[in-house]
Amino acid sequence: MLEQIIDTIPIMITATDRSGKCLFTNAYQSALFDKDPDEMVGTDFANNFEATQAANIRRQDALVLKSSLAIPHYEEEITSDGVDLIFHCNKSPLLNHNGETIGVLTTAVDITARKFAEQHRTHLALHDMLTGLPNRVLLAENVKSTIANCKKTNSQAALLLLDLDRFKIINDTRGHHSGDALLREVAERISKAIGPGDFAARIGGDEFAIIFGKFENIDSINSRCSKLLKALHEPYAISGMGQVISASIGVSLIPNDGDEYEEVLRMADLAMYDAKANGRNCFRFFSEDMNEIAQADAALENELRDAFNKNQFVLEYQPIVAAQSLEYVGLEALIRWNHPRRGRLLPIQFIRVADESGLMDMLGNWVIGEVCREIKSYADRGIDLPRVAINVSPRQFQNQNICDELLAHIKANGIAPSKITIEITEELLIENNEEVRATLQRIRDHGVGISIDDFGTGYSSLQYLRDLPANCLKIDRTFISRIEDSPADRAIIGTIAHLAHALGMRVVAEGVETYAQLDLLRVSGCDEIQGFMIARPQQAKDLGKLLNGRKNDPSSRAAKG
Ligand code: C2E
Ligand code: CA
Ligand code: CA
Repeated sequence: MLEQIIDTIPIMITATDRSGKCLFTNAYQSALFDKDPDEMVGTDFANNFEATQAANIRRQDALVLKSSLAIPHYEEEITSDGVDLIFHCNKSPLLNHNGETIGVLTTAVDITARKFAEQHRTHLALHDMLTGLPNRVLLAENVKSTIANCKKTNSQAALLLLDLDRFKIINDTRGHHSGDALLREVAERISKAIGPGDFAARIGGDEFAIIFGKFENIDSINSRCSKLLKALHEPYAISGMGQVISASIGVSLIPNDGDEYEEVLRMADLAMYDAKANGRNCFRFFSEDMNEIAQADAALENELRDAFNKNQFVLEYQPIVAAQSLEYVGLEALIRWNHPRRGRLLPIQFIRVADESGLMDMLGNWVIGEVCREIKSYADRGIDLPRVAINVSPRQFQNQNICDELLAHIKANGIAPSKITIEITEELLIENNEEVRATLQRIRDHGVGISIDDFGTGYSSLQYLRDLPANCLKIDRTFISRIEDSPADRAIIGTIAHLAHALGMRVVAEGVETYAQLDLLRVSGCDEIQGFMIARPQQAKDLGKLLNGRKNDPSSRAAKG
């Protein structure tokens, strides 16, 4: 029975004498060498292994024989038939009846499969499942060792952060399956485009990081970044359809831009945002200005929070008139910040930071409330303000409550929803988000107007124009400013007006500064006019005078002009 047990147990068991000759071996052991146990008895056991492994076995055996102590756990790599196997071994002294060491007893368990599984688990923990690229954890390790290496050898390396441009649209319009396929292909192209000493990782949804371990000079980084962008910009065949995407890259230099992992990553991130802001599909190196801007932004953000609590914001209202009669038909609310040190700040000086810091939600909600209160306050004094347009930034739509907040303010002040129009930009529509569309529809269903602002500057797709519940379209002032000199811009304006009318929308021309522009806009079919030529943004308290006092009415001037 003991013999059966010894021959079936999946552990290799061998006894050797002091000279290394095999005294006993079980079937499991001898099968490794394609032999019967009997064949092996009497032969030099170590001779069954290749030279270096045999030498190692002899060395271990000698240790046991000399000390009469066991070597309880060690791993041995053995090549058998060209396959690398890993064994967990145990050697103990083989004793006779008198307790004397007469040889060595070796047991070995094949742990190759377990080792492999362990390695696989480690691989999973350090790699991204979708693309197989290293993940953020491995990136951190690599950047840290790159920094250490650069310091030691007095050399330079570069960290690139690469973010796909508008990847979300592909995910939303073509499905996650296509998005995943694209990401895999992007990972492949990146891996192909980088050199042997480089490293690439996927560190977020559509965000990748690359380390250029070595480079000759800044020019060579330039050309390698260009090459990378070009490779990624080639069309992708995703589920049978062509797809184009671009990427933005931020570069920070190690150790110039930082000698800590978090620092170089942050610098590359700032540079990447700069690349995005510069029109995407490009790369930017980190520069100290970016850091300064980031710091200024952080300071401004603190001031903004404070300003909100201290009521430093005010609204001005710019009139909108009918193109033909020049009668007042609307107002646009424009925010200003009475900064305690810097005076009256325009939105361009703080809206971006308010947006990026998430403060725009609070600020935007205040604007809506303030406009509603102003309309009510005028109504209480017997003055009926025309409808007021409120700018709503895309960020505010990330807040699910925008529609409810809007309606709550309208209701609280007892004003008609048709008194309010919200102005949204094409940027909001780019993402092609169903939720946004549904929210807009709800807003429109309640009678609030929806106007597409700065039309023609963004991603103008005819499809979204058709599907949107908007009832007004504002042609961006860049077109208006060129209308006198550029027949092409005149044609564009005329066509936009035609199209908008066909879709049942009013057309507003903004930024109108001259009578010549006004005349051309009238001919082009624009319905309404807004601009310095009519009036600059006004303080709320002056609106009554402006709307009633016909003496100071610019329309009489315009009519004469
Ligand atoms: P916008 O929505 O395109 O607003 C029109 C901007 O053009 C205003 O600048 C206005 O003063 C200016 N403008 C009007 N007529 C003329 C003209 O004849 N010539 C020229 N050169 N400019 C003219 P402002 O007030 O500096 O606002 C800038 C931008 O800030 C606005 O552009 C809007 O996008 C944003 N903004 C303003 N108020 C708010 C707000 O309450 N919330 C949000 N989210 N954004 C706002
Ligand atoms: Ca606007
Ligand atoms: Ca505008």
